[in-house]
Amino acid sequence: MSVAIDSQRLLATFLDLVQIDSPSGHEAAVAAYCRGALTAAGCVVEIDDSAAITGSDTGNLIAELGGDGAEKVFFSAHMDTVSPGEGIKPVVEQGVIRASGDTILGADDKVGIAAIIEMVRVLQESQLSHPTIGILLSVGEEKNLLGANAMDASGFCGQPCFVLDSENQPGEVVVGAPFHSSFKATFTGKAAHAGVCPEKGVSAIAIAAAAISAMQLGRLDEVTTANIGTISGGSADNVVADSCIVTGEFRSLHEQRLNETGAAISTAIQTAVAGTGASVDVVWEESYPGFLLDEGHPIVQLALKAAKRIGLPAQVAVTGGGSDTNVFSKKGLQAVTLGTGMKGIHGLGESMAIADLETLTRLILQIALDYR
Ligand SMILES: [Zn+2]
Repeated sequence: MSVAIDSQRLLATFLDLVQIDSPSGHEAAVAAYCRGALTAAGCVVEIDDSAAITGSDTGNLIAELGGDGAEKVFFSAHMDTVSPGEGIKPVVEQGVIRASGDTILGADDKVGIAAIIEMVRVLQESQLSHPTIGILLSVGEEKNLLGANAMDASGFCGQPCFVLDSENQPGEVVVGAPFHSSFKATFTGKAAHAGVCPEKGVSAIAIAAAAISAMQLGRLDEVTTANIGTISGGSADNVVADSCIVTGEFRSLHEQRLNETGAAISTAIQTAVAGTGASVDVVWEESYPGFLLDEGHPIVQLALKAAKRIGLPAQVAVTGGGSDTNVFSKKGLQAVTLGTGMKGIHGLGESMAIADLETLTRLILQIALDYR
């Protein structure tokens, strides 16, 4: 059985959403729109009190559409967008939505929100039996997953959660994303006149360069990467630099490989410093944990079967990027990310095919109806 969605209403909702500015930290206007739409569709809507932690002008939006029976399934998307994302003017050409000016489109992640709103409207109108639908719309996803991190999800533990936030195609289920860590290494050498007495100095820049040269960077194996992101230091051409700061990150789907990569970076830094008279202070941060579900996991199977039922080539994928799914997994939800079909995200060429927006909406509707 398949239930019809209202394609025109879905497109109109998406176009409304992308025209409401919502850079990270300023999601209040889009939250108000979503609150109105979801309330009108029969949901109970709350804004949580995370704004004090995230610094955003609104909390996360948490909504619920009551269903039959005790089952509850969550769908999630994020309300914020990256820059340049203000004054977005969408245009539709040959079935594809783009931004007409020098902005992103904001399909990431308004496409997820539009699909969720349409699903709820259809469920409410159809009077079909369905589980309770939980909706989590986060703030600050693009800012280190701030909103999801600040969300109190203790009441949602063990519940399935489908996060609509991936460039994969609808029907592709992202079952894994990497653990992510970052570091900041502050090298301290000794300043001296570069022309008069360079031998009295210790160049923090040269030592940092030696450390970086000794690191393995880029793709280290199929599921592990490392990168130096920034380097800064020194004060003038005629001074041996007494300070240099290097920042970087590393990721792996496997926690053990993440730890090994961090250890190798640490060794490269310490070896470069040893015996030079310089010192180094390294601050490590685990930004977010990874997740990896088996293809046979009931939540993955639910999504794959729903995809097949509506004629999509269902398959699993893993990603190298982080999303709210990482955080929700850590908080005990059974979370996966769904491919949405959004293209070229975080760039001026971002686009969304109307057909993919419709397919995504049909898919989550099918998941909701199949969940029992
Ligand atoms: Zn996103």
